Amino acid sequence: MKAQPIEIEQGMVQCPNCGGGHLHQTEVMVHQRYGEDSNGVETRVSQDNGIARRQLAADDPRFEGRRDDVAVRLTCEQCLHHSRLIVMQHKGQTHVYMRLEE
Ligand SMILES: [Zn+2]
Repeated sequence: MKAQPIEIEQGMVQCPNCGGGHLHQTEVMVHQRYGEDSNGVETRVSQDNGIARRQLAADDPRFEGRRDDVAVRLTCEQCLHHSRLIVMQHKGQTHVYMRLEE
């Protein structure tokens, strides 16, 4: 998956694959570490599966960075690709970007 700068036009997030503006939210994933670079927990919320939690090792690739992140999984109505709108803490700053799922 590649991270891309977020594209916001008049407050609307666009698909990083085709630029379409009709995205459907399908799942929310929260990754929280107990400390910087430490292990932590993932909480996933979706209509189909409800709420699920699991422990994550410190090197789990689900973590976006060294701290916490929130990812909203989106499905594009036009090209059907999945992407993620990600809010991630990095060195005290908060970054927002899109990541296209492969
Ligand atoms: Zn698309």
